[in-house]
Amino acid sequence: MRPIKSSIPWRPRLLVWYRRHARRLPWRTHVNPYRTWISEIMLQQTQVATVEGYFHAFVRKFPTLEVLAGAKEEDVLSIWAGLGYYSRARNLLKAARQLVREGRQIPSEMPELMGMPGVGRYTAAAIASIAYHKPFAVLDGNVARVLSRLFAMTGDMKSAIVQKRLWAAAESCLDHRNPGDWNQAMMELGALVCLPPPELPRCMDCPVRRYCIAWRRGLTRSLPRAVVRRALKKVSIEVVFVEKDRKVLLSRRSSDERLLPGHWALPESRSVTGVRIGKVLRVVRHSITHHDIRLVVREGTARDTRGRLGQGCFWIAEDRLSDLLVSSLWRKAVGLSSGHGRGSV
Ligand code: SF4
Repeated sequence: MRPIKSSIPWRPRLLVWYRRHARRLPWRTHVNPYRTWISEIMLQQTQVATVEGYFHAFVRKFPTLEVLAGAKEEDVLSIWAGLGYYSRARNLLKAARQLVREGRQIPSEMPELMGMPGVGRYTAAAIASIAYHKPFAVLDGNVARVLSRLFAMTGDMKSAIVQKRLWAAAESCLDHRNPGDWNQAMMELGALVCLPPPELPRCMDCPVRRYCIAWRRGLTRSLPRAVVRRALKKVSIEVVFVEKDRKVLLSRRSSDERLLPGHWALPESRSVTGVRIGKVLRVVRHSITHHDIRLVVREGTARDTRGRLGQGCFWIAEDRLSDLLVSSLWRKAVGLSSGHGRGSV
């Protein structure tokens, strides 16, 4: 580890604090570009506590880029089951296959990193700095909150102008000698001390309190300014659960569906043919991205399991449901346990 030296007065304090208080997370105890990439993709939109278990399972099953590139999509989605935002898993697989096909490893430069599916500016900078010690700053929700308070930035955090200021602040604070530790220290400060509402920042435990403008001006509770959230769009879907001879009728959603494209799912009632539709078995409520979904599951009866009974519909053996139904929405719909473990039908 390189010595701490800085012209920004609070930089050494934060790095010392980080090295003392950083959580021991699996992607920090053994660092390589592959593990950093997987962890950063998983951490997009998902809490650290949830990611830990999934990360262990993922790198156990797919320990290297080459093993991942050779995996079946179904197996990758099965490990991802319950983590949500499944396009992340598909992008990992797509990127791994592309890199291996071209005989490359995880790149270390920003343009190449940002050319990988699912990798934006934040994720590229995180991989470059943590895995390759390249001097690129990160800006995620935690870092933005810390910076907005440290520099008392008012204004809408999502607006282009504030985002530009935040990136500029993140870059000007970056420790070029320890970019990986620095970026993680900023994120850790936001996660453990400079907490988001409704909690209050724990300023008395903060290593950089004396340099914080929000603290000095008594603005720690009002910054960053609250952003009005977009209301979830309500969607109602009616599907049918048809079971016969220990097989269940499933459909593969098309890749241009708005919700869960490409997923195995229960077929929608309107798309099946030759099925008698009966009583409501259960109603499942589920929130996904910007949608609040009400899924009505009706009982369906079919004479035999020979026909497909609708476009894109297939009879699937019950013991394969757990592998194929990866979203917790569909797992709840058929009565499988959701989350990481395998459930029973
Ligand atoms: S003093 Fe308080 S508001 Fe300022 S950075 Fe530290 S925890 Fe955040």
